[in-house]
Amino acid sequence: MSKMQEEKKIQRIGVLTSGGDAPGMNAALRAVVRAGLYHKLQVFGIKRGYEGLLDGEISEMNAHSVSNIINRGGTVLLTARSKEFQSEEGIKRGKAMADIFKLDALVVIGGDGSFRGARDLHRIGVPVIGIPATIDNDIGCTDYTIGYDTAMNTVKEAIDRIKDTASSHERCSVVEVMGRNAGYIALNCGIAGGAEACIIPEKKFDINEDIIKPILSCRNAGKHHYIIIVAEGVGGSVEIAEKIKEATGITTNTTILGHQQRGGSPTVRDRVVASLMGAEAVSLLARGITGRIVAMKGENVVDLDIEEALGMTKSIDEGLIETSKILSLY
Ligand code: ADP
Repeated sequence: MSKMQEEKKIQRIGVLTSGGDAPGMNAALRAVVRAGLYHKLQVFGIKRGYEGLLDGEISEMNAHSVSNIINRGGTVLLTARSKEFQSEEGIKRGKAMADIFKLDALVVIGGDGSFRGARDLHRIGVPVIGIPATIDNDIGCTDYTIGYDTAMNTVKEAIDRIKDTASSHERCSVVEVMGRNAGYIALNCGIAGGAEACIIPEKKFDINEDIIKPILSCRNAGKHHYIIIVAEGVGGSVEIAEKIKEATGITTNTTILGHQQRGGSPTVRDRVVASLMGAEAVSLLARGITGRIVAMKGENVVDLDIEEALGMTKSIDEGLIETSKILSLY
């Protein structure tokens, strides 16, 4: 290896979790630390995402620092949304702090917003790798994001419970689920929870056609309880419930599941995907490869150029929407 290459060799890496927390972030962190040690790198944990980077809340981690966290939701590194980091000045200060701690590269575990920050750092000379973690599964470049499966299982359990009481009281329940501007959680949990209707931001809806009529035809066929899933990106779940009651006379209540969807012990899928992605991120760095987002294509872990990855979009599966409608007929 030439002297030039030797000088560029990555030896000290920083890792942070950023933006909305997601179950499995800890598993990804654990994988980054353990794989880093395996590759003989020094790994530094940065607290509170970019906020901690700007504040220099950075300390070295060892194998023990990540003991007993693979099973825990949230993130032991803590997370935050930094306003300052979104300015040119903030990004420059981030690089200055990475230089002070002699970090050769950063691993950013987070969502789209966090990746934009990572891309900006990369552009000014801080090598980065991104690992997608958000319950919303709304990152264009990857089929799967860490936290999605756990969140969907939480929603599924909540729907099952709501259904028990809705059926005993012969009621209609409107359940609002997370997903930001995407309907992935709503659509999948609508199918898994046997909902009568599922309203997602990707599809325009008509309250009479898509909600009232299905409820009435179910009632006329002898059904006594109804679950309507509304994605957070559509919103207005309380108003939707009021309209259902007005039009059908059926007692209708609304449950906004909220932040419980972000917590909880990660599922096997989230732990395994997070472990594979964390290990791959470090393997790339150990080979001197940076400016990449680790992603899932089907069941495979791949990596993509960060600039290209941020320009990618994905669409909702039309077949799934159709199937969901067919299966809710009664
Ligand atoms: P997520 O990563 O879950 O999408 P946010 O959108 O809240 O979460 O962003 C998380 C972090 O990324 C914030 O600390 C913010 O400073 C940074 N960030 C978000 N958007 C941008 C952007 N357009 N440019 C630079 N940094 C950004």
